Amino acid sequence: MPELPEVETVARDLQRVVAGATVREATVSWDRTIRHPQPPERFVAEVAGATIRRVDRRAKTVLLHLDDGRVMTVALRMTGALLVVPGGTPPDPYVRVALALTDGRELRYRDVRKFGRIGLWPGGGLRTVGAGRGSRSRRVAEESRRYRIGEVFSGHGPEPLSRGFTVERLKERLARRSAKLKTLLLDQSFIAGVGNIYADEALWRARLHPLRAADTLDEAEVRRLHRSIRTVLRQGIANRGSSVSDYVSADGQPGDNAERLMVYQRTDQPCYRCGGPIRRIVVAQRSTHFCAHCQAEPVGSGGR
Ligand SMILES: [Zn+2]
Repeated sequence: MPELPEVETVARDLQRVVAGATVREATVSWDRTIRHPQPPERFVAEVAGATIRRVDRRAKTVLLHLDDGRVMTVALRMTGALLVVPGGTPPDPYVRVALALTDGRELRYRDVRKFGRIGLWPGGGLRTVGAGRGSRSRRVAEESRRYRIGEVFSGHGPEPLSRGFTVERLKERLARRSAKLKTLLLDQSFIAGVGNIYADEALWRARLHPLRAADTLDEAEVRRLHRSIRTVLRQGIANRGSSVSDYVSADGQPGDNAERLMVYQRTDQPCYRCGGPIRRIVVAQRSTHFCAHCQAEPVGSGGR
């Protein structure tokens, strides 16, 4: 499942190849891929003629900002991929939505397992979200007259690579929670964009056990976690993501971060730091990989 670095890679690739392109016509082959507007025929009608101004990312979602202020969201989920192909490219049975561009190319949303969702939203309110679950995001909701793009993300936590995601902010957020670190890192309302791979990688790098309760971290540990989260995500982006499943980027090139992962899916292999075996446990129904030596087990965790 693509996480922040994979989605960021897709967004950067797309920015390079489709910024400035205009949609001539949309074809929806799987209705449920369209989340908004409903019915999908409305999406088809409303996206025709739209020009893509710029492409970026929020959480694990690709954002295509249109010239008129509207925003198209593409949540890739498990197997979604965005591909730009030349005109005349043979049809592909896994393409759920195709946007024919006026320059003859086609922007295809391909999704084998069909969990991904595409939306088209009025602009506005995006900047203020992620600032906290409190007053600010509520104020956005109250001011809005329509369901704007900002509201789509109002339940999401802060962007870990943003300027606002400081050690202090992470410390405050952790102190309020007694959940296990692994569970929290996967919670999109706690922090946006982190999934199973980068959660394991960040905890290994920070030398923190996945079952540690969030509110038990001391200052130094919070600092290590903060730095580790950002480092593993930045490294993932630099390597164009971890191509461990069906994920491919916009131009079809797989990322090469998978071979640089330190713990993820390395069960029983030696830890790169101490040589001890990497262990696998299940936390929040997800495979969790860690080094029992480097990431000390929390006291009293046995019965929890
Ligand atoms: Zn180790």
